[in-house]
Amino acid sequence: MPRKTVHVIGAGAVGVSTALYLQREGFDVALIDRDEPGNGCSAGNAGNIGIASFIPPATPGIWRHAWKIWLDPMHPLDIRLSHLPKSLPWFLRFALSSREARFLEVSDALAGIMRYAFDAYDPLLRAAGNEALIQRNGRLFIYETEAGFQAAQGSQERRREKGIEVQALSGDEVREIEPALGPSVRFGHFLPEGGISINPQHMIQVLARSLEQGGGTILRDTVTGFEIGPDGPRRILSEGGGCDVETVVVAAGAFSGALAKRLGTSVPLESERGYHVMIPDSGVGMCIPVGAAERHVVITPMEHGIRFTTGSEFSGLDAPPRWDLSLRILDDARALLPELTGDVETKWYGHRPATPDGLPVIGRSPVHRNVYFAFGHGHVGLGTGAITGQLLAQLMAGKPTEVDLTPFRAERF
Ligand SMILES: Cc1cc2nc3c(=O)[nH]c(=O)nc-3n(C[C@H](O)[C@H](O)[C@H](O)COP(=O)(O)OP(=O)(O)OC[C@H]3O[C@@H](n4cnc5c(N)ncnc54)[C@H](O)[C@@H]3O)c2cc1C
Repeated sequence: MPRKTVHVIGAGAVGVSTALYLQREGFDVALIDRDEPGNGCSAGNAGNIGIASFIPPATPGIWRHAWKIWLDPMHPLDIRLSHLPKSLPWFLRFALSSREARFLEVSDALAGIMRYAFDAYDPLLRAAGNEALIQRNGRLFIYETEAGFQAAQGSQERRREKGIEVQALSGDEVREIEPALGPSVRFGHFLPEGGISINPQHMIQVLARSLEQGGGTILRDTVTGFEIGPDGPRRILSEGGGCDVETVVVAAGAFSGALAKRLGTSVPLESERGYHVMIPDSGVGMCIPVGAAERHVVITPMEHGIRFTTGSEFSGLDAPPRWDLSLRILDDARALLPELTGDVETKWYGHRPATPDGLPVIGRSPVHRNVYFAFGHGHVGLGTGAITGQLLAQLMAGKPTEVDLTPFRAERF
């Protein structure tokens, strides 16, 4: 039997992992990206490989806090008025997803895939000879006010219900775990099972190299559309001229919505832009990633410095970045880490591919039998990249999938 060929569009955490798992299932794989692998949203995220990050953004009661966003022009959650006419239908779906029953369904489905987050990366990194790129020291959530601590109880309780160990801590207990944190921290939650990629961009590059070493092809090209035949797309159209295809996987992150639409499927997908700054020589020896809930900042000790991430900006894919938001992180960081010194080396932004319910789209296209989707991973695409690839490859190989993919189908919209 000749081997089947699959073209995967997008070389981020999701696309590269999917390509590798397809290769393991015996497919010939060509990975297409307009940029170098790992240079999209997967490059600059907070590195969290979350088995406990299954609380979606659309939580019950979230609308009670909406006024804060509108009153504070520097709020890290920024819903740009100029983009609202386009994003309004997305927000209406978001509001519907925040109903208790839907929230429980979504967090169940996310928890169902996240429990495999580490296990799915393990064999890929082992084969690439780079297992140390993921480290599991746990994860801290910190709070500076009693109100902030209390507001997090619901999410932490939901984690406990799902079997995740969550320890409630006083400020001093927090500092025993992470001595770099200052006295403003009064409460915390410690999740011992948490872990991070200590360099997400490098990790994707290493995996992409491993794909090539296994015989896969990486093509640098921008996909612009498809030529559709009687049995679905038969040719990818691209700036470089295009190529014939048997089977296509759309894994182009926040840019997947337009490609899916050209393939006949409409999925509500927004860019939820976030920012980071990196300080390589910070003077602070941090040992564990920290989420500062009230400040909407995540602090991650990486192999090349400390990374501070923030921001959920809904302004579309083309709006100019708001660097003032990224620099606000530094004030927050200094308030939390009194010993912090050093200069910012990089400022970065990336587009989270956000669906309104917080669930990714993983599965076969409802329109074409030779098209599959793997996009819309929002806040958790690094952590769930490998398990997405594993599940999709199982589906495409005609095997039973480890997890039921029904909640992730594009048809839910
Ligand atoms: C500030 C911030 C912090 C985050 N923190 C975390 C975290 O701690 N943990 C976590 O799990 N997730 C986190 N995320 C989310 C995570 O980064 C994303 O969900 C994930 O990177 C999405 O991966 P992807 O492969 O789908 O997309 P991407 O990494 O964006 O890859 C898509 C690729 O498709 C390519 N592409 C797009 N269009 C085309 C085209 N037409 N032709 C060819 N190629 C194309 C792009 O060049 C890109 O390389 C964070 C995101 C941000 C912004």
